[in-house]
Amino acid sequence: MSSAHHSSRHLQSAAVLDQLVGSGRGIQIVESLSAGLNTVRDLVFHRIHLDVERYFGMDSMCIPLSLDQSEYNAKAEIDIWQIIEAAEFAAASGFITDVDWIRSWLGELRLGGSFGNGPITERVGQYMQLDEDGRRRHFASCLEKVYPEARKSPLVLYQLMPSAVRIVVAVAFGATQQAAKQRDHQAFLLPGILDCGSCQGGVLDNGETCVECGNPVWNYNWLLADD
Ligand SMILES: [Zn+2]
Repeated sequence: MSSAHHSSRHLQSAAVLDQLVGSGRGIQIVESLSAGLNTVRDLVFHRIHLDVERYFGMDSMCIPLSLDQSEYNAKAEIDIWQIIEAAEFAAASGFITDVDWIRSWLGELRLGGSFGNGPITERVGQYMQLDEDGRRRHFASCLEKVYPEARKSPLVLYQLMPSAVRIVVAVAFGATQQAAKQRDHQAFLLPGILDCGSCQGGVLDNGETCVECGNPVWNYNWLLADD
């Protein structure tokens, strides 16, 4: 793979990772993580934005004043929460043993220099005081503050998200069994996902999306299906 295809931030993150783990797979892990976390972030934003409009109609009181700014803020909130969850899982799974190190590394990879900024540092500090359920509730509340339409999202969307992030991390580090275990947990929460005729609820490669069900962040037909 030619280095011309990688951004300088990705190459830098890969070099730092290679120094720590010495696997020489730094750039593959960086590109896989980036593709996977971008996909999950963008699909979640799609769910709380377009899908909410489509399924519930547009509530004029809820229309963000400036979509560009609201979209930026919502995606930043999603990214910060993803960094926290991804770091916790990477450390708990033994991919990278130092959780503080991997959190900073992911922060730099995802948000560059702004990861150290006051408001982001404050948000990270809030998450670090909470357990998984607390983080999920705080994430929902932070997202709804910057993007009120998110209040209409089905609860199961938030319940599925921690495993969605863990699957991205497991796939990037080549831990297919860990990824499958997280998908099993999602199928426990929403059994219908295994019925997709296209992907059968299987773990996809990072960056891929099932056009039928929306896997790895299921669309509303599937999230709202009665089982
Ligand atoms: Zn599918």
